[in-house]
Amino acid sequence: MARQRLEAFLENPQPTRPIPCADCGLCRWGDHCESQWQAEDSLFNVANITRTQVKKLEAAGITTMERLAGLDHPIRGMAETTRARLVAQARLQHARKTGAPAFELREAEPGKGFDLLPAPQPGDFFYDIEGDPHYEGGLEYLHGVWFDGQFKAFWAHDHGAEARALADLLEFFRQRLAAHPEARIYHYAAYEITALRRLTAQYGIGEAFLDRLLRERRFVDLFAVVRGALIGSEANYSIKSMEAFYGRVREGEVKTAGGSVVAYELWRETGEQTILDEIEDYNRIDCISTEELRDWLVSIRPAAPWPMLATDAGDKEVEQDADKQALRARLAASGLPQERQDMLFNLGLFHKREAKPAQWAVFDSAGKDEDELIDDLDALAGLQAIGPAEPVKRSVLRRYRFPLQETKLRAGRKATVPVIDGPPATVSIEELDRSQRIIAIKAGAAKAHLLTDRLTLHPDWPLNTDVIAAALRDVIDDQCGMRRLTALDDLLARAAPRLVTERRADLLDGADPLTGTIAAIAAMDGTVLPIQGPPGTGKTYVTARAILALVRQGHRVGVASNSHEAIRNVLMGCLATQDDGDPVLGLCIGHKVSSGEDGYPDGCAGVIRSTANDDSLWSRAHVVGGTAFFLPVRSTSRRSIGSSSMKPGKWGWPIWSPWGAARATSS
Ligand code: SF4
Repeated sequence: MARQRLEAFLENPQPTRPIPCADCGLCRWGDHCESQWQAEDSLFNVANITRTQVKKLEAAGITTMERLAGLDHPIRGMAETTRARLVAQARLQHARKTGAPAFELREAEPGKGFDLLPAPQPGDFFYDIEGDPHYEGGLEYLHGVWFDGQFKAFWAHDHGAEARALADLLEFFRQRLAAHPEARIYHYAAYEITALRRLTAQYGIGEAFLDRLLRERRFVDLFAVVRGALIGSEANYSIKSMEAFYGRVREGEVKTAGGSVVAYELWRETGEQTILDEIEDYNRIDCISTEELRDWLVSIRPAAPWPMLATDAGDKEVEQDADKQALRARLAASGLPQERQDMLFNLGLFHKREAKPAQWAVFDSAGKDEDELIDDLDALAGLQAIGPAEPVKRSVLRRYRFPLQETKLRAGRKATVPVIDGPPATVSIEELDRSQRIIAIKAGAAKAHLLTDRLTLHPDWPLNTDVIAAALRDVIDDQCGMRRLTALDDLLARAAPRLVTERRADLLDGADPLTGTIAAIAAMDGTVLPIQGPPGTGKTYVTARAILALVRQGHRVGVASNSHEAIRNVLMGCLATQDDGDPVLGLCIGHKVSSGEDGYPDGCAGVIRSTANDDSLWSRAHVVGGTAFFLPVRSTSRRSIGSSSMKPGKWGWPIWSPWGAARATSS
């Protein structure tokens, strides 16, 4: 297929053109493409323009920067604020071709631009990372810090050294902030924070300390300040381009981040110390330039109150660290094998760690510009109220019109809206009409003031997994104590299932897969029996028959999964099995669903559905289906059996959480 396409292209070549992407900085065709964009006065030369915006402008006949600079009418599918920004950007850049650097301040938007720039403080420091994406697994090979007219470098040439450099860097931050409690850590663009989040999680070093720094808003991203505060005449918003405004002229061999990576790779081949010296010098100048940029921004900032540090989050850090140490100490005293201790330790921290990226995504989204978010499927940007907020019971509801864009947000879902000086707040999407581009948003009365005339919706916070995390802590307690949860113990030990019948190598004992599996399940003795197979091999068929066989023997059966669809599949399988003959008389099947739209066929009465956690149904049903969030809150009979039809997850574990189910079931 690829060959045919290549041959067809060679026979009849169609004109092509370069489209900029993230790899351009490292591409050997860079100069060629750059000269073509310059020669065409391409729209791609306009700083911070997206491909989608170029497409919309070209569709409207605007194909050059000069034409964009003179554009004075709306563009179909483009928000007016976006059009105005792009026109100003093109106008400044076009004038710069023959003139001096210039900038215009953007209209102030709460929480953006200069609102993110704090007053300079004694002890402020300026931080920059060099990373090599080509090193296996990636490597942050240099952290540089500029402070009090001095420079400190933290080098790492392998992953062991990367962990040590991280620990040293964070210790340096800690000591510096202890000596200068008001100081901030300035950096340019998001890379530094992204890298620190990844490194702290990867090495389990300084997670609580980094959380504290983020909570206290110690880091100041000057790129976010620049992006929200002004439109500049330079070709892009890299720190090197910004230097045109405060007069720094770069010298030295290494002049760009891409150049630093190329130089570092060369050092890995040659080992020449002069290359590392050049890289360190480049990094040092980037840090100094960050300070100069901060000072320049302070000098052009309109008079207004300065933003403050958030409250001291030291207590939370101590609490987080103490929890971790207590867990480690508890496991160390348990006598469990080291491998099991490590697994339980990581499981104990799993949900907190897992939630972090989703929480960061909400904060990151809230920091972005409206026109960036229009291209972001997780958000819905540029909402304009079409009426006042109306009271609905104890809440308020407001309708908005939004510009053309794609989004994953849907009616019935939740989203977040920005809050000045606080984390984004959750609201509900009551209606979403994509054709009319109208959305209705509901918020509690206390949040009514957040439904402002103009609004952007960001992704919602991650699901609250406290109930599963608590179940996991019980499992860890049990593992450190009497180990009564024998099924879990077998799972953690990867032990063969224990059966009340004689232990045998062939669990099916020579029987056919259906009869043998049902017999093996019936003989489970406080243990776990995984059944695995690709789709279509009959797992649901066997599971449904095994469940009914257990009910006939007087057991109650829980069916757990991450998805209601998978649970429904098994429960409907049980109903279908009832119709095959030899039904269980008086069989009661319940499914704890999350809403009225539960996906069951119309008129399906065989599975009783309820959204209530405390429904008496859960005590009387023979078969109970619920997600990993439901089973942990149930405490059913010790004779009950947990069942799952899940595919194995990436570690070979079931993808649903068995920890909660372990408290509620014996097998
Ligand atoms: S510089 Fe390289 S990556 Fe960028 S558009 Fe040209 S060929 Fe593509």
